Amino acid sequence: MKSDPKIIDQRIKAFQEACRKMGAKATHQRTEIFRAVISSDEHPDAQGVYRAVKEKIPEISLDTVYRNLNLLADKGFIQIAGTSGDSLRFDGNMGHHHHFTCIRCGLIRDFVSAQSQDWEVPEEACTFGHPLSLQVEVKGICLSCQKKR
Ligand SMILES: [Zn+2]
Ligand SMILES: [Zn+2]
Repeated sequence: MKSDPKIIDQRIKAFQEACRKMGAKATHQRTEIFRAVISSDEHPDAQGVYRAVKEKIPEISLDTVYRNLNLLADKGFIQIAGTSGDSLRFDGNMGHHHHFTCIRCGLIRDFVSAQSQDWEVPEEACTFGHPLSLQVEVKGICLSCQKKR
């Protein structure tokens, strides 16, 4: 599901406000990088974000996109959805959700499950540290990859 433009605007305002509070600058470039991630449901990698932002800011560099994506993830504005090949994938959906990941093309889609509210972190996982959240990844072959066979 694509986020509606009103919600994106609200999130951008909240983001700029939060940046001010932590003394970081919500520069035009940083804001557009944030916008590119939260307005996509594709869980883009840095290259994908770069392509989207370049349409608005032609002079932006891939390096700037990388640095800002890592900073945004570090500060908890976006999260890392996983990896596909050797690229990190970024996720602007901060609500509790799970992922369907296609093992062929790397497609990542969000899904929610009412049932998952009751799932408990297995005890064995707790022996490694203190759990913060439980996210499930369903691996499979997406519809369009199925059609290709
Ligand atoms: Zn696929
Ligand atoms: Zn996601």
